[in-house]
Amino acid sequence: MPEKELEHIEGILREEDIILMRPEEEETYKKVEACQNCGLCLAVCPILEVLQHESYSGPRSITSELSRTVREFWKAKDVVYLCTLCGRCQEICSKNVPVPKVVSLIRSKLFKQRKELVPANFQAMLENLSNYGLAFEPMDEEARVESARGRLEILGLPYLPDKVKPNAEILYFPGCQAENLLPEIRESAKLVMEKMGVDYTLLPDLKCCSLPSILIGDSETADRLQKDFLEKVKSVGAKIVVTTCAGCTATLAEIKNRCSGDFEVKHLLEYILEDFGKEKFGKLVPNHPENVSVTLHSPCHLDRHVGKYTTDYAEELLKMLPQVEFKRLEEPGRCCGAGGLLNLYNPRISREIVRKEIEEIQKLNVHNVVTPCPLCLVQLDQALFKKRSKTQALDYTVFLAKRLYGA
Ligand code: SF4
Ligand code: SF4
Repeated sequence: MPEKELEHIEGILREEDIILMRPEEEETYKKVEACQNCGLCLAVCPILEVLQHESYSGPRSITSELSRTVREFWKAKDVVYLCTLCGRCQEICSKNVPVPKVVSLIRSKLFKQRKELVPANFQAMLENLSNYGLAFEPMDEEARVESARGRLEILGLPYLPDKVKPNAEILYFPGCQAENLLPEIRESAKLVMEKMGVDYTLLPDLKCCSLPSILIGDSETADRLQKDFLEKVKSVGAKIVVTTCAGCTATLAEIKNRCSGDFEVKHLLEYILEDFGKEKFGKLVPNHPENVSVTLHSPCHLDRHVGKYTTDYAEELLKMLPQVEFKRLEEPGRCCGAGGLLNLYNPRISREIVRKEIEEIQKLNVHNVVTPCPLCLVQLDQALFKKRSKTQALDYTVFLAKRLYGA
């Protein structure tokens, strides 16, 4: 059907509050019908742990109630924007009901049909994504390098110029946060890969992985960013896309799987364990002048969206580093409360969730909590700072760079 006609029909349906679904969306939505109303998911949802049913009816309501009513998605507004998409409900569900996917689907329908219900706090990010293709306003190159150099200096790490070259085996994809807000992560990844002697390149014009657009519900921008990513991987000819962000890893891997791309997507820690080799990596790490105790916060987007094995990898690597004492959290994959843009939508609840994680971390009395995700890092860092905690939050890749370079 011609685009104009389709738009006209969609307009009429919108007025009548009738929602069109693409076949793959229909397939996702139908999965909620498997819900048997057992309530197991209610016991693991981090929002319910904080709200105690006060104003949130939980994952069961997303599945059982919505599957039994007409598709009045706007009635689910308060539920879907509170969900962190942590995936704990799906993990425990014997019917494997994909709540995070259903939540993203409902958000996309709200965005299309009832834009006035999309939280106003998403506006700035929405504008950045549409103006720059990035979740945060980019700095000019000179300011970015200056900021990166300053942060590396504080960490005691050297600065390496960017590598942009054709036909590299690895395309390093830093993601919006490491590109603009936390450049020490991007620079540390370069340092780690340089030490490993791997053939990598950066992109001269990085765009977002599309996760923030998916979370806002802006599927058109998400589609555009995904197309841009696939074209860039093809033009570089890379075999592996390496990331240092849990959200980018899960999102880009899903895009790759959907289009059967002939490349792989891995978090740097997966690349080290699966491709480079743990023993080989261990030989690169010198004895360090300082002993340090450390624990791991494993992000939802790795632990559940990619797989539990990523948490095992992250722990394995920490345990083999010289002069590092690893102390395990009872549950390393708890939700930090920032996912699903909850930190923007409802900072109070987001802070309540991370407070519980901080209590667990403080019981261990460690020097550092490390996490392979910039979003979790900011959330943990702010909460630890507020508590005036002695434990410092560090990005996982930055921690590896510090141990490799004796910093
Ligand atoms: S979503 Fe799964 S765990 Fe939750 S009530 Fe339904 S069947 Fe039970
Ligand atoms: S994905 Fe997480 S926050 Fe969302 S409903 Fe499920 S358990 Fe709750």
